[in-house]
Amino acid sequence: MPTEDQVAEPAASSVALQGVPKGYPYVSSPAYLTPAGTSYLRFPGVHLVSKPQVSFESLGDFLGGFDEALDFPQYLDDPTALPDGAHLCKVAGQTCYMSFGPKRTYNTDAQRYFQNIKESGHGSVLEHANFSFLFYGISRSVTHELVRHRAGFGYSQLSQRYVSGRVLRFVERPEYVNDPDLHARFEERIDRAAADYEAIASALLERQKQGTEILSAEHRTDLRKKVQQTARSVLPNEAEAPIVVTGNARAWRHVIEMRANEHAETEIRALMFSAYLCLAAVDPILFGDYETVRYADGTQGVKTQYKKV
Ligand SMILES: Cc1cc2nc3c(=O)[nH]c(=O)nc-3n(C[C@H](O)[C@H](O)[C@H](O)COP(=O)(O)OP(=O)(O)OC[C@H]3O[C@@H](n4cnc5c(N)ncnc54)[C@H](O)[C@@H]3O)c2cc1C
Repeated sequence: MPTEDQVAEPAASSVALQGVPKGYPYVSSPAYLTPAGTSYLRFPGVHLVSKPQVSFESLGDFLGGFDEALDFPQYLDDPTALPDGAHLCKVAGQTCYMSFGPKRTYNTDAQRYFQNIKESGHGSVLEHANFSFLFYGISRSVTHELVRHRAGFGYSQLSQRYVSGRVLRFVERPEYVNDPDLHARFEERIDRAAADYEAIASALLERQKQGTEILSAEHRTDLRKKVQQTARSVLPNEAEAPIVVTGNARAWRHVIEMRANEHAETEIRALMFSAYLCLAAVDPILFGDYETVRYADGTQGVKTQYKKV
């Protein structure tokens, strides 16, 4: 349930990562209410909901099918455990050169193995490991920027045509949170936007009932969609846009580098910094080369010597 708007939330730079011991880190973002009851959030909610899970046991059949002297089957007895994503990418990379014999790079040297891959820009093996997030508490303007990243990503975003005003929420920019005037203007603005949305939706339905048929819908669902697709024209960029994003490790690395830096817009910077924290927590081999940078405005980003692998 949303909490009453009383105290200002800390800026998005102080990120509270939860869920690390269970292996699915997340950053939770509470909802607030204006005095008139309009719901809004103040920073990105970032939940890792899926990551690679591997089993290489059955590969014994494959590895045992070569010259015994190559000693491939002992590949599966490597005693060092790796995060599943890094393990998958390492097996994929070692398949390229059939590096399964005793002279290969063992898991204990996985950091060095991936350092070579990152250094040489041979990042295609990182495309095997996929990670999915649910992002919320982010504005429609941020998702517009996010979906520009095409290579290696899949997106499913809230449909403003399909869902009704009952799930309408907004996102307050950090610049407004601690400024009483800008905060009050924000609350008034979103109250007005929510009220306008409802008023237009009701007016459209009323016209339809009167037989004007301005929406020309054949079915009930069509009608609802046509009402909402029209009424949403009054919604501002501040409207919340929950989205599920799946991407491979190479693609996540690229978007983190492009967006968790000083040139990026601050809302997407906060979003990608939180996503980075989650990914580095579950797979420090694939994402552990990033260093945190704190900028003058208090926000954080990352830098790495291995850009765009
Ligand atoms: C700070 C900042 C400001 C921006 N400002 C604007 C702006 O004012 N206006 C605007 O329109 N956009 C703007 N963008 C968006 C930007 O132009 C890109 O569309 C966005 O960052 C996606 O990145 P990408 O092109 O690397 O694509 P991704 O889909 O992330 O692709 C990753 C990489 O794959 C390769 N690739 C992907 N698709 C192709 C392809 N079709 N052909 C060849 N290679 C491909 C490229 O090497 C690419 O870098 C901005 C982005 C940033 C970070």
